[in-house]
Amino acid sequence: MTNSGPEDPAAREDTDMIIIMKPNASAEAISNVTKLIESRGLQAHLSRGDEVTIVGVIGNKEKLHGANIESSEGVDRILNVTESYKLVNKKFHPEDSVIPAGNTTIGPGNFTVMAGPCAIENHDMLLQSAEAVKKAGATFLRGGAYKPRTSPYSFQGLEEEGLKYMKEAREATGLNIICEVTSLRALETAVKYVDMLQIGARNMQNFELLKEVGKSGVPVLLKRGLSATIDEWLNAAEYIISEGNPNIVLCERGIRTYETSTRNTLDLSAVPVIRAKSHLPVIVDPSHATGVRAYIEPLSKAAAAVGADGIMVEVHPCPSCAMSDGPQSLTFEQFDTMMRHLKPYVELAGRA
Ligand code: PEP
Ligand code: MN
Repeated sequence: MTNSGPEDPAAREDTDMIIIMKPNASAEAISNVTKLIESRGLQAHLSRGDEVTIVGVIGNKEKLHGANIESSEGVDRILNVTESYKLVNKKFHPEDSVIPAGNTTIGPGNFTVMAGPCAIENHDMLLQSAEAVKKAGATFLRGGAYKPRTSPYSFQGLEEEGLKYMKEAREATGLNIICEVTSLRALETAVKYVDMLQIGARNMQNFELLKEVGKSGVPVLLKRGLSATIDEWLNAAEYIISEGNPNIVLCERGIRTYETSTRNTLDLSAVPVIRAKSHLPVIVDPSHATGVRAYIEPLSKAAAAVGADGIMVEVHPCPSCAMSDGPQSLTFEQFDTMMRHLKPYVELAGRA
């Protein structure tokens, strides 16, 4: 389509803007600006910082023609937002978000460790894993009940039975629980059990699923797609937040490159890039990034050093017997050792 009229979404992409209020702007001035925006059929999104309030305008700013917002009382300046993601954009919300999930929070001041088996294989291995990762200092138990496997003949997960074991593990240990959902049907069941949903790399652009996760309001870990750019990843997060769920944590889990010595290539630079572009927390998954047990500890240290908000690591009672991802899974003992070695890095990053 060559004709980009005012209602063409592509033309609107670079027309959104934010209004930065003066530090001393009164509540009345802020309310007047908001009302003016809404009276023109646009959405106003308020972000109140300690000092400055920002009003994000979503929609076609042409509608504000002649409104003269720049000279409204309390307005400091106006910035254009060229990115297509808005509500997850740092420009809309300059302070880093703290995401409540289960009995804890993820974000500044914390270093969250999520650990557990790739797949929930049976009751006992899950309960043993929960005890072990809890003892070593994790605050989330991970475990797949719906497994997105490359081959349709590989183990696909225990589904609801697995979720029941996760719930039992939470009751036994006090750990929060996180499980991946791969379909709308899985989502409907999982929300009855989990503290946090996981959207895996393969579903990062499953927009119908993202919208439903957005409607659920349940905190969500959004993994980066196999070959997704950071902008595509943030747009995926925008799908969730735009449905009313702001409780999103991002997870860098490696991307496809020409390198074959590791399963994927861990893009550590994504952490500071996300930090610059978005207010959402970001954690690192060195297990799926490398596929190799020996690289988990150094890259977990690197994740802490680069400012990640946490890590997700696969742990298994018997990695050589694992039904999936054995070569990248740590034994209980290896995980415990890694956690002890990681501690000074987490402290140095100011997150202990
Ligand atoms: C997982 O965490 O179980 C998983 C399948 O990871 P990813 O979506 O990053 O491949
Ligand atoms: Mn796995």
